[in-house]
Amino acid sequence: MKLFRFYEEDPTRVLFGYEKEAGVLGEIVDPYELPVRETGRIFLRERIRLLAPILPTKIIAVGLNYHDHIAEMGHALPTHPVLFMKPPTAVVGPDDLIRLPRISERVDYEAELAVVIGKKTKSVTPASALDRVLGYTCFNDVTARDLQRLDGQWTRAKSFDGFAPLGPHIETDLDPRNLEVACLVNGLIRQRSRTSQLLFPVPELIAFVSQVMTLLPGDVIATGTPAGVGPLRDGDTVEIRIEGIGSLSNPVQAE
Ligand code: MG
Repeated sequence: MKLFRFYEEDPTRVLFGYEKEAGVLGEIVDPYELPVRETGRIFLRERIRLLAPILPTKIIAVGLNYHDHIAEMGHALPTHPVLFMKPPTAVVGPDDLIRLPRISERVDYEAELAVVIGKKTKSVTPASALDRVLGYTCFNDVTARDLQRLDGQWTRAKSFDGFAPLGPHIETDLDPRNLEVACLVNGLIRQRSRTSQLLFPVPELIAFVSQVMTLLPGDVIATGTPAGVGPLRDGDTVEIRIEGIGSLSNPVQAE
């Protein structure tokens, strides 16, 4: 099932829905309640504006989780997942602008599979971790690479408003173990790998993070990016495409 967050005319009236049939969304009461409870109202896909499919209380991201990306960054293989966080204020939705901050000269795209948590989760084992998942969506871990190198700590480089595009919807019926993850800039492929190349796969990541902090419904774990990271420039359009989910596209503009 595909879960959407959207509005029709009034941006302050935010709604949740699921794809009832091609081009038609059925409004639902609660995105975390499965099976879905419908309100009975339907909306035409062509008449609505999509928003980020969920607003997380936190985004936990994993650095260095694809073998090929670790090699290109010149790092040794980590012995455990290296975590950092992005603030919820960085989240934008499909077709929203990514603004290039004036204080950075190098802003990179990073295509990532995002795991959306469905239930309050603390200290789960990998074997039961996938039961806590609502679904999966596309994520762009936009990064000011020069500030990341300058600071050592990654918070500033990862946290600008608009640096966490998420969407276009949450796919609830998906096996995350072997999906193609790609990034295209202006229609040209820049990254292409498979989640089977993850050093720490999804169940291990959820278990690892949940040993540290309580995960709440809507929280996002970004699973890391493959090789091929590179710069975004004013006027670009960047697209994250994940097999079984779809495509998240955002225009890029200088601040
Ligand atoms: Mg990343």
